[in-house]
Amino acid sequence: MDPTAALYQQALLNLTLTLAKYNVDGIQLDSFPHGRVPICYDKDHDHPIGGGNWCFHGWQDILIRIRNEARKINTNFVLTSEGIAEVYLPYLDGFNEETINTISPDFFKSAFTDLSKISFIPLWHTVYHEFSVAYGVNISLHSIHITQTNNSSLTFYLRAIGMHAMQGIIPNAWVSSSTFLTFSPELNTYFQKVALSLKTYGKDFIRFGEILRPPKINVPMIQSGWVYQLPGSGFSYPPFTFPSVISSAWLSTDGRIAYFFTNVANRTIDFDFTIDLTSESVPNETRALYEIRDGSIHSLGIYNGFLKIIKLTIAPREILMLLLAPLNEDPTVTTKAVEMGGKISP
Ligand SMILES: [Zn+2]
Repeated sequence: MDPTAALYQQALLNLTLTLAKYNVDGIQLDSFPHGRVPICYDKDHDHPIGGGNWCFHGWQDILIRIRNEARKINTNFVLTSEGIAEVYLPYLDGFNEETINTISPDFFKSAFTDLSKISFIPLWHTVYHEFSVAYGVNISLHSIHITQTNNSSLTFYLRAIGMHAMQGIIPNAWVSSSTFLTFSPELNTYFQKVALSLKTYGKDFIRFGEILRPPKINVPMIQSGWVYQLPGSGFSYPPFTFPSVISSAWLSTDGRIAYFFTNVANRTIDFDFTIDLTSESVPNETRALYEIRDGSIHSLGIYNGFLKIIKLTIAPREILMLLLAPLNEDPTVTTKAVEMGGKISP
């Protein structure tokens, strides 16, 4: 549709306001801005013939009107989209991040001769994370995965859930609660750990912080199995290799730094991690060092401004956060368990 057309704008507005009146707290505009708008040659429309910035301005009008009008009915109303583009950031409250589950480093095999020399960064989150709220595409595990693949897709989905925690993306499950529990207690437990990290101790970093360059660690590689009926596309997805421990690094708005690690493998992994703030764009000063394991905090002493090598051991599906906080101050990490907004139960 032409987003400048009054009929289209009014139809979207009417639909949204009707939902808001029934206490719907938010909507996702599907296929926007993920799908393209065809160039319009209608002489009777108010925009120039062909392409141009009129398309953006049409959407800008729609988004502003929908959010303003819906919030008069429901002050909590949020407007989100399928995918995101920079120009729409001021007008949306969040977006569905569809690539989080499904990008494999193996896609880039033909472009590079040695993938081990390449490190990947999540580009959108590196540039815009603190200006946007992302939620993932559905994590699901249907009976077909269990019966047809002999559980081979489980590692794929565990990695996907872990990636949400490492990149600060809200996980999203579109399965019935009983299915989730019955088919995979591992996924269910890990999902709740990730949700807890985003909601409590990790919130100032992975949710509202600024991303730093990824930690360099040397850990065993593991392989995913075949995945059938991938959510979204419905396609099958071939096995690929990835690090058993995935990680990220963050700067909070008050200047604290945190490194996050999670182990997707089925066995405990040992590795060394070097803290070196000289290579980061943050003050390299003496700080207190803490480790937080699935929410439990304890002190690891002091980082004194020189390279510090730490020997780490991480259990399967554990989320480990290393925190550098000001000396002699409360580390201001919320570690106590909170009541989750939604409860997963059979
Ligand atoms: Zn038009």
